[in-house]
Amino acid sequence: MEGLSLAGRTALVTGGAGGIGTAICADLAGLGARVVVADLDEDAARTTAAGLPDAVAERVDLADPGSIDDLAGRVGAADILVHNAGISIVEPFVDSDPASWDLMWKINLRAPMYLTRLLLPGMRGWGRLVFISSDGARAGSGGEGAYAATKAGLFGLAKTLAREAARQGVTSNVVCPGPTDTPMVRTVADRHPGLVDKLARQIPLRRIGRPADVAGLVAFLCTDRAGYITGQTLSVSGGITMF
Ligand code: NAD
Repeated sequence: MEGLSLAGRTALVTGGAGGIGTAICADLAGLGARVVVADLDEDAARTTAAGLPDAVAERVDLADPGSIDDLAGRVGAADILVHNAGISIVEPFVDSDPASWDLMWKINLRAPMYLTRLLLPGMRGWGRLVFISSDGARAGSGGEGAYAATKAGLFGLAKTLAREAARQGVTSNVVCPGPTDTPMVRTVADRHPGLVDKLARQIPLRRIGRPADVAGLVAFLCTDRAGYITGQTLSVSGGITMF
């Protein structure tokens, strides 16, 4: 199949050292992209980059606009921007701490806005924006009210950018993982034995996701073959969310 090569493209992946982020970096690199692995965890970012043919690691704290400015300054330009980094602080909404809301807003929504504002002007004639949201934002998820609110904000941002940036040759889409086997989910599962099996029973395809399940769609959306897909919100969740 033609139109799948990303040779000559530079891709910046936030949270590229995490569970889903590492798989996204691997798939983009596999299609020939040069990858910038941007993460708070510099050592893990270096490890991820070292395993790829053409990649660099960059430390960034996405909660800090100054750190995002520095990252954009060092990188200069990117053809592909995958906003993957995110945090989830799980607590019943009525007990939730507004300080947690602020941190999730900064990392999950403000950072994608801020970084896109810095790098989108440099995408001239071709570009890809992919926002990693969550099925929790599409369907609701117990204990994730504030998280879901920040992730739902990405829907409006991505659709607006799909309209505004189309004339620049830039597409903008949202990918929503369902429960996926990463450190983020394992942290919760460790406190709730049996949770993963319970989730799997509710999923039509009868298992939780793997990072590669999400990465495959993200990588495809970045290719020329996906050049007519924009403004879309797509779930990768084994059929648990069907709309
Ligand atoms: P993860 O916790 O395994 O990895 C997240 C990565 O983001 C880590 O490498 C971490 O160091 C980095 N990060 C965190 N805070 C940062 C900051 N301030 N600045 C820079 N980097 C920072 O998470 P994951 O499960 O791989 O999730 C990836 C994305 O997918 C997230 O946006 C998450 O909300 C979303 N998601 C995950 C699931 C799931 O079940 N795992 C489900 C739905 C959505």
